[in-house]
Amino acid sequence: MNSFSDFNISKNILDAIHDMGFEEPSPIQKSSIPLILEGKDLIGQAQTGTGKTAAFGIPIVENVEAKNRIQAIVLTPTRELAIQVSGEIRRIARHKKIRTLPIYGGQSISHQIRALKQGVQVVIGTPGRMLDHLKRKTLKLDDVKMLVLDEADEMLDMGFIDDIEQIIRHTNRDRQTLLFSATMPPPIRRLASKYMNKPEEVAINRTRVAAPSVDQVYYKVFERTKLDSLCRILDSEDIQLGIVFCRTKRGVDELTDALQERGYLADGLHGDLTQSQRDKVMKAFRDASIELLVATDVAARGIDVSNVSHVINYDIPQDPESYVHRIGRTGRAGRKGIAMTLVTPRELKQLRTIEKVSRTKLEARNLPSFEEVAERQQAAWKQQLIQQLERDEDHREIFYEIVRELSEEYPTDRVAAAALQLAFGQTHHVEEEVYDFGETGASKGMVRFFMNVGKNVNIEPRKLVQDISELAGIPARSIGRIDVFDRFTFLEVPRDAAPFVYEALRQSKINGARVNLEPAKPRNKR
Ligand code: AMP
Repeated sequence: MNSFSDFNISKNILDAIHDMGFEEPSPIQKSSIPLILEGKDLIGQAQTGTGKTAAFGIPIVENVEAKNRIQAIVLTPTRELAIQVSGEIRRIARHKKIRTLPIYGGQSISHQIRALKQGVQVVIGTPGRMLDHLKRKTLKLDDVKMLVLDEADEMLDMGFIDDIEQIIRHTNRDRQTLLFSATMPPPIRRLASKYMNKPEEVAINRTRVAAPSVDQVYYKVFERTKLDSLCRILDSEDIQLGIVFCRTKRGVDELTDALQERGYLADGLHGDLTQSQRDKVMKAFRDASIELLVATDVAARGIDVSNVSHVINYDIPQDPESYVHRIGRTGRAGRKGIAMTLVTPRELKQLRTIEKVSRTKLEARNLPSFEEVAERQQAAWKQQLIQQLERDEDHREIFYEIVRELSEEYPTDRVAAAALQLAFGQTHHVEEEVYDFGETGASKGMVRFFMNVGKNVNIEPRKLVQDISELAGIPARSIGRIDVFDRFTFLEVPRDAAPFVYEALRQSKINGARVNLEPAKPRNKR
């Protein structure tokens, strides 16, 4: 099963997968798609970043028919995930006439009722809202043949287990049930044994692989500003030759375009290129006329270049083995190499799995600040400016006019500096993603969290600081006030690190106890 066409799926889905830029099935897809297509119940132990959504999304799209009935439902813990999953299934169903609809709390229910009436085949929703519709009888699940519980452990932590059971009871007994979860705590096991029919279990390959001895670091980034973050890293590093890995062919094309636009010597490599195109790119990379090769895992497999100084995982690998393969492209022939991985808050768990399975530890690094980048870029900027000064004066008259006019009001050096800032200064501005925790009653610049364990599991502030620092990759000294009570704890962390702390600690274990985290409410302040 090394290609999507090895699966027993329709041409319209293969075409859609091709449009999405997937080159080959991810490990979790290889193991679960055939079983799901056979109609088996399945427990998949997989987290975000492994390709789990398409693992159940592809069989769903294959199985549902165009008739006007809901035939598959997916339960997700959050509205964000519902929207994301719905989007992914919609893309897979692009060439098939079926409709998907996300339903979640916070959106007008009458809007959802209207949308449901128009006829949908796949509904993705949060348990609370789904139940609400069932009670109003605006959702009919009699024809559901596939039920997916996505991120079941998170739904458990959010207190959705009773809702889930009620929803399951509204569906057909002979349905197929799929359960995906990063961890398998006892209540989830019980749920599985109660409602699933001899489920098969699949997990990512946990055979240990040894990572090569190259320097390995990671940077915490946000999805929306990833490109800017990458550029900052590129600008602050001495890169002789670098390979930048993307998940999909589309990702390669988009990133290559974006990097070229910003003046980097970059080109892309993926499976849709002809042999001669590929040879041309590889030749340019070998003789270093391009510095950055943007590639998918598949395309990079055949590459044998010995002096790669940097491997950059722009997208986190789908499994530990792929991580080890990727970073093995550097540090060859006795040369020093460095492997850098960009990690979004939701991918922190995937990073920890990679570390565990490949028996390696990645060092957390802070993104270089604009000032640091500027320091290194000064010479290059000056060079570009000199080139511009030496060029013909064509079309410059209009700019002289502006300068003359402004110079009457401002000193000329200030005018020039502002112009340079416009030209060079703003491109790499990294904005904060809105992980909106609301008002938490924290000190200025901090976010305060409520954690569901305290002295009852021997939480000890010093040790907790150490744990948070390690799990979330933030300096211990940046962590603020910690108040441990009998059954809970409050902790304060810097605002920009908060999404990472939140994602890292939620669903983790401290002293054997399952930990959950919520933004604190201001009235909890003491
Ligand atoms: P997930 O783990 O489902 O959240 O997926 C993470 C990301 O991987 C999503 O952006 C998917 O579109 C993408 N993805 C899923 N399967 C593949 C695949 N076989 N090849 C490349 N990308 C994939």
